[in-house]
Amino acid sequence: MRCGSEKPTMIFMKNHPKFERTLVIIKPDGIQRGLIAEVIKRYEQIGLKLVGIKMMVPTAELIEKHYTLDSEWRVKTGLKSIKAYTDKGLKHPVSNDPLEVTAVVLKKLIEYMTKGPIVAMVWQGAHAVQIVRKLTGGTEPLTSDVGTIRGDFVLDSYSMSDNDHRAVRNLVHASGSVKEANDEITHWFKKDEVFDYKLLNEAILYDFELGGIL
Ligand code: ADP
Ligand code: MG
Repeated sequence: MRCGSEKPTMIFMKNHPKFERTLVIIKPDGIQRGLIAEVIKRYEQIGLKLVGIKMMVPTAELIEKHYTLDSEWRVKTGLKSIKAYTDKGLKHPVSNDPLEVTAVVLKKLIEYMTKGPIVAMVWQGAHAVQIVRKLTGGTEPLTSDVGTIRGDFVLDSYSMSDNDHRAVRNLVHASGSVKEANDEITHWFKKDEVFDYKLLNEAILYDFELGGIL
């Protein structure tokens, strides 16, 4: 039995979901569309904590490494792109081989992501990876859910980007899994650029006693 003053131990464990971190990048089109504040607002208002932020013009090497940190990324992204066409009853214009599709995508992505300044951020909080993906929306803005960043603020599609030989412009990058997030955070941020600090909001979000309001 737990007595009144005893606190549940899970709150103090470092593997509690509230310590999960994820990487977000506001891409060059997000900056140019004047959406920095809007994007930050969406992640902040749900209760996530901003623990790292910087602006830069990325190099081609930084972007190529970022997208290939996950050895499965080429296959997954190629399959997703092919499926977007087959779901519409169409044949992919480049190839039916996911690796061939992604080879073209990666080249266009490097051009897109090095075109101007980006804002890279680390967000922390319960289920940060999944929550950020949910708020960000699906890859292709044409089919991203309404209410998400990609669904609300941009209207691109695979067919438009393929037609114009460029990457899909979808405003933000968000890590796809906890492993991807950890690798990407290390890739973009030095240890002392990510901050461990207490946010008063967290008492209300996570504390067993609702932060001792009374
Ligand atoms: P997400 O960003 O949703 O995790 P991916 O990791 O599959 O999506 O792809 C990375 C980025 O590459 C996308 O956000 C998009 O900008 C671009 N992209 C993906 N697939 C294509 C494609 N078939 N054609 C053009 N650009 C693409
Ligand atoms: Mg991805």
